[in-house]
Amino acid sequence: MLHEPSDNAAFPRLTEEELACLEDIGTVRRFSDGEQLFDLGEMDYSFFAVKSGAVRILDHSHGEPREVALHEANSFAGDVDLLTGRPAVISAVAKGDCETIEVTACRIRRMLGEIPTLSDKLLDAFQLRRARLESSGFLGIRLAGSSHSKETMHLQEFFYKNKVPHTLFDTDTDAGQKLLREWDVTEKDTPVLGCGKRVVCKPSLADVAECLGICRDIPDELYDVLIVGAGPAGLAAAVYGASEGLQTLVVDRMGPGGQAGQSSRIENYMGFPSGLTGADLANRGYLQALKFGAQFTAPVSVASIVQDDSGVHVVSFCTGQKVRTRTVLIATGASYQRLPLDACERFEGMGVYYSATSVEARLCRESTAVVVGGGNSAGQAAMFLSQHAADVRLLLRGNDLRKGMSSYLADRIEKQSNIEVMCHTELCEMAGDKHLERVEIRNNQTEEREMLDCPSAFIFVGAKPHTEWLPDSVALDDRGFVMTGPMIHHHEKLPEGRTPCELETTSPGVFACGDVRSGTTKRCAFAVGDGALAITCVHQYLQ
Ligand SMILES: Cc1cc2nc3c(=O)[nH]c(=O)nc-3n(C[C@H](O)[C@H](O)[C@H](O)COP(=O)(O)OP(=O)(O)OC[C@H]3O[C@@H](n4cnc5c(N)ncnc54)[C@H](O)[C@@H]3O)c2cc1C
Repeated sequence: MLHEPSDNAAFPRLTEEELACLEDIGTVRRFSDGEQLFDLGEMDYSFFAVKSGAVRILDHSHGEPREVALHEANSFAGDVDLLTGRPAVISAVAKGDCETIEVTACRIRRMLGEIPTLSDKLLDAFQLRRARLESSGFLGIRLAGSSHSKETMHLQEFFYKNKVPHTLFDTDTDAGQKLLREWDVTEKDTPVLGCGKRVVCKPSLADVAECLGICRDIPDELYDVLIVGAGPAGLAAAVYGASEGLQTLVVDRMGPGGQAGQSSRIENYMGFPSGLTGADLANRGYLQALKFGAQFTAPVSVASIVQDDSGVHVVSFCTGQKVRTRTVLIATGASYQRLPLDACERFEGMGVYYSATSVEARLCRESTAVVVGGGNSAGQAAMFLSQHAADVRLLLRGNDLRKGMSSYLADRIEKQSNIEVMCHTELCEMAGDKHLERVEIRNNQTEEREMLDCPSAFIFVGAKPHTEWLPDSVALDDRGFVMTGPMIHHHEKLPEGRTPCELETTSPGVFACGDVRSGTTKRCAFAVGDGALAITCVHQYLQ
């Protein structure tokens, strides 16, 4: 059971005063033994505080219901999905006769912004409970597919970014084959997703998002700010925007986290002396923004932005939906590029990766992993992979590890016995049948070549901004990053007589922040600061 009596933070008790507060905004409801409070998969399920009796929380992911928590008098049933608005991943039933206070999800979200002490208690409990559930053997969504398939990896990345609890049943194993038989599908249908009572073959991200309640209809209202991209910059802007009363909508083509979500350990972010994973940082920002009322949807990309005569931006999404917003904030960041090798694209997701999270780390267990790049991201990946792979080769084009990497990280890498730093070395060939099996490396000083048996290569070079979707009216620098503020004062695209604020682009009311913006430092803390500054600019513009 998740519930241990001593576990105060995950299963805190509500005071009589707090129960009275909840009663003011809720409804008293009585349930008899075995009666359901909410069901697995139920959308917009309510929060329940227990006044008397008890409520059982059941996990159905193994087929037979399994009790994972028991909430007695003065405790409450609820978890993070009360904030995200996604369907319930567990169910709740009365044990004996019980009396509860039901508060709707919408009202509980509003309360979180109104009563700070109760809000802290509930938010901490929601997050801890989810973490406990995931480590208790809860399977979540079941996904059947080969761990060497690009499509399966893509779905896993989506789950990972959107914090969807899931278990991969690798079809190269007996368990995976058994699940295919249970679902009456074959390997040709993979990846296959068990979504409630439905089985979905080869789902697109949009299918998955719809099935899991991640992508929801966007209300037809006029937003103050539409934030495109939910990396650290977009998330920070969402927290500041929503907490300062702006109607805030955030869209992302994948889910919250951005590049930071791919980081196994961020150690240079102020306030976290022992570091934290990028996914954890992103999830905290995401929940914080939800708490203040920001709306999120994914996977969504922008197809076009048009400013109408009244100055309102009409933004069309790839889904066909349109929203109206007073301002647009570009926070689409950047990502690492392919190596200029024919085979690189062929092996993407099948040995070639652009991030090193636990998903990829599993695939290089007890083998050699090659990491290409000299920045912090490559350094972190090498450190993280060294705990999973037999050995790691870190390939550097130049000869100075500290040139592009923080020195604390370079020090660690040099001390890690199974990482070999190979200076003046480039990856020049990739080979394998379906999956990457070997890479050839070349010393760019001596031209010496070496073939390595290696099923995984991690590429962290040539960050390219995501600006291909922007209208012509937004000026870019010669590397494709968005120009803002003083650097566009005399730009030909800037409407005459207009002085843009620090983060405003050549298109009035369109702002940019974080890695996508020209001249910024490509770090989390900078992106977060930029996101906050962007909201100040939005306020100035709206005045
Ligand atoms: C592996 C790795 C490790 C790192 N480690 C550190 C570290 O330890 N410390 C540190 O300070 N920095 C680190 N960084 C750098 C840091 O993560 C970035 O500087 C930071 O994430 C930039 O934030 P951002 O929000 O500007 O952009 P991003 O993080 O790139 O986020 C952009 C978001 O926009 C979305 N998007 C892109 N295009 C579209 C579109 N057309 N429509 C909708 N959405 C779109 C993406 O899906 C993404 O979620 C690391 C980066 C990597 C890759």
